[in-house]
Amino acid sequence: MNEKEIEGGLTQVEAERRLKKYGLNTIEKKKGVSPVKIFFSQFNDFITWILIVATVISGFMGEKADAITILIIVVMNAILGFVQEFKTERSLETLKELASPTSKVLRDGKIKVINAQELVMGDIVFLESGDKIPADCILLSRGNFMVDESLLTGESEGVSKSSSGKNNSIYMGTVVIKGKGKARVVQTGMETEMGKIAGMLQDIEKDRSPLKEKLTSLGKVLVVVCIVICIIVTLAGVWRGQDKYEMFLVGVSLAVAAIPEGLAAIVTVALALGVSRMLKRNALVRKLPAVETLGCTSIICSDKTGTLTENKMTVKALYFNGKMHKSDTGKLPDNTMMKKAFTYCNDCNFDIKKVDISEALMGDPTETALIKAFFKDARALKKFMDKAERVYDIPFDSDRKMMSVIMKEGSKKVCYVKGAPERVINKCKYILDRGQVRLLTAGEKNRVLKAVENMTSSALRCIAAAYKDSKVAAGRTLETNLIFIGIAGIIDPPRKEAKDAVLKCKLAGIRPVMITGDHKNTAFAIGKELDICSSQSQVITGEELDKLNDRQLSDKIQKISIFARVNPGHKLRIVKAFKARNNIVAMTGDGVNDAPAVKEADIGICMGISGTDVTKEASSMILLDDNFATIVSAVEEGRVIYDNIRKFIRYLLSCNLGEVLTMLLSSIFYLDTPLLPIQILMVNLATDGLPAVALGVDPPEGDIMKGKPRAKNESIFARGLSEKIIVRGALIGVCTVFSFVMGLYLGFGLKTARTMALCTLIISQLIHVFECRSEKHSIFQINLFTNLYLLAAVATSIIMLLCTIYVPFLQMVFHTSPLVVSQWFIVLFFSGIIALLNSLYLYFKSNN
Ligand code: ATP
Repeated sequence: MNEKEIEGGLTQVEAERRLKKYGLNTIEKKKGVSPVKIFFSQFNDFITWILIVATVISGFMGEKADAITILIIVVMNAILGFVQEFKTERSLETLKELASPTSKVLRDGKIKVINAQELVMGDIVFLESGDKIPADCILLSRGNFMVDESLLTGESEGVSKSSSGKNNSIYMGTVVIKGKGKARVVQTGMETEMGKIAGMLQDIEKDRSPLKEKLTSLGKVLVVVCIVICIIVTLAGVWRGQDKYEMFLVGVSLAVAAIPEGLAAIVTVALALGVSRMLKRNALVRKLPAVETLGCTSIICSDKTGTLTENKMTVKALYFNGKMHKSDTGKLPDNTMMKKAFTYCNDCNFDIKKVDISEALMGDPTETALIKAFFKDARALKKFMDKAERVYDIPFDSDRKMMSVIMKEGSKKVCYVKGAPERVINKCKYILDRGQVRLLTAGEKNRVLKAVENMTSSALRCIAAAYKDSKVAAGRTLETNLIFIGIAGIIDPPRKEAKDAVLKCKLAGIRPVMITGDHKNTAFAIGKELDICSSQSQVITGEELDKLNDRQLSDKIQKISIFARVNPGHKLRIVKAFKARNNIVAMTGDGVNDAPAVKEADIGICMGISGTDVTKEASSMILLDDNFATIVSAVEEGRVIYDNIRKFIRYLLSCNLGEVLTMLLSSIFYLDTPLLPIQILMVNLATDGLPAVALGVDPPEGDIMKGKPRAKNESIFARGLSEKIIVRGALIGVCTVFSFVMGLYLGFGLKTARTMALCTLIISQLIHVFECRSEKHSIFQINLFTNLYLLAAVATSIIMLLCTIYVPFLQMVFHTSPLVVSQWFIVLFFSGIIALLNSLYLYFKSNN
């Protein structure tokens, strides 16, 4: 262990006092979105302004009640828009806060992960390679420690730091590129060197969503089309001798109602809602567009340790003196040299106040497991530790797969090494056998490798130990001519939920792939248990990978499910090879060396618990629980969100088309205007707002993870959506006109006919919103009660409609007349007939 025991650190109370006194450890002042600004931005739309001006003018010309009502409706619409946007902004803000860097700090004698903003002077922080230094600090630990200060100095060369001497200062925003250690915070926030220079800290990226961009351009086309139609409707009315102002208002109201101004904005709402749902399932999305891509994922490349396995490690076997000792045959035997190697060459910390070793230890599970194999209580461990002092170390890293330390034991210096057996044994010249140091012969080496084979085949993770006690000096020769001691075999059981998640992936046409630094056999044993692979031919090692050129790899890669003994550098090649085969790749990573692969992947995923800052910044999503099953839930959520966006679009566009066509058809067929301006706005208010948003929280259809992933470049209107929109929009328009004509034809008078048209238009849309919940099933086949928001929204709209036609005061305002039962029959017939026919069609289709 690098420290005898943890220094106290600050108490939580003291830290809070300092935080109050000196403020947050941030450079940028948070610019919150002002609600007032959001509210007024709702009116920031040309057509709405025309409507307001036109209303005011018509108000002066006599129609005061009309003018006031129109203004009220415009304001109510703005309020609806405001609520939506405000909530979206809020959840994005929360997200930003959550995605901001965290720090491992010592408070009240315990290691805690806190938001880096809450660091104060005097805090003890833990740093390792890949971490962004969270404040200006003084380095406390000895050993190899190197920092990239290019952000501050422009120099891209790494700078060596050491706890003794002048260069012990490390600065906020710079990145640890080598080493592991503790540091004390000396300056925070604007007082840091970085604060003085100011302006760094990348926030959550506000990438533009491709889908949103496409919809924005579609929206522009639709605006033009709508305006042209509105002009035609207006001119046709005027030409037939209707009141000019009235017709002008009709045109503008229609434009307000029909232009799907919310189309692109609503995508953000859906994405943001999805993001908060994902957060509840432990996936923190850093880049909004990633949510769209998630649904297309066809390959999930996952680390093994901690993601597919529990990361709860226990030593199950020890091999030394040419013998295997398994724990199921009783207690593990003691071996002093092995105990020394695994305890001294170990980076975990312990809390001396705790007696039970399991509670006292903090650190990497592989390393805590090794200590637990030899110690039961923390006092014994401390006593053992006190016998030696660490004077130098080379921390573990996934490329070397080894760790070394130099310990001073009395007057003697001893080097201890632990790491992947093949790596360690290649550095050994001797072997320790029953207290005797002998030459490591080829036969002896084979015996050791056989033991490794034996242990790894039963899913054990192997760590070898070695030492040397002569010619010990820091430098290139430190890890040569070592004396081999033995091997520890550690079990790390697969996560229970991982097996189901793998099955879910397979049903969803997604291939799970394991990428691990661990031994081929261990990886295969775990992979087989989880059903990721079935035969050894699906496994490839890093060494074999190196022998393949890019073409050979690309030819082979579709059949490979496990990459074992790989280095982080291999991951980039793997992502590229999968992408070259047109896969949409999700890739996990934690260490700093994983960052390039995580960045290259379509969905870069960083581990929330073990991930380093650099990798987090390269990622588009952070797994808060490091769990494979969470990736699969996120993919599922991605599919749900995309489906919900399609539902939205289908509903909004077909309804708006219906509204425009109602007016256009009437003017083509020389009918009276079927809806007055206020009525048009009423339709917009009752149908566009709440029901559309409620579709955004629609629960998924049961078979969402049963089909193949969609192609990334698939149009949002693909798979028949545009036809559905056009046909249904046209039918809504035609039915409304029919209902209006029936009213006139049966002699109910213009006012009642208009009321009938109003009711038909609104009710047919409110029926259609339920149809939009499924593309395959009819309204009779879906469970209406799974989306209570939608039921509530529709009920609200119906109550609004009923009030408009039955409350005497509102009758005056909206120029409606109360409908009688026979008139309702006509309205309900024209509102429901298409949905009914469509349901019958879907029913027969699904039964044939
Ligand atoms: P994954 O990439 O799925 O997380 P992993 O955790 O097994 O896999 P690494 O952490 O790179 O990958 O470990 C690779 C090998 O290095 C292990 O199989 C083990 O032999 C050795 N090893 C792991 N941790 C340590 C450590 N702390 N000290 C020394 N050797 C280690």
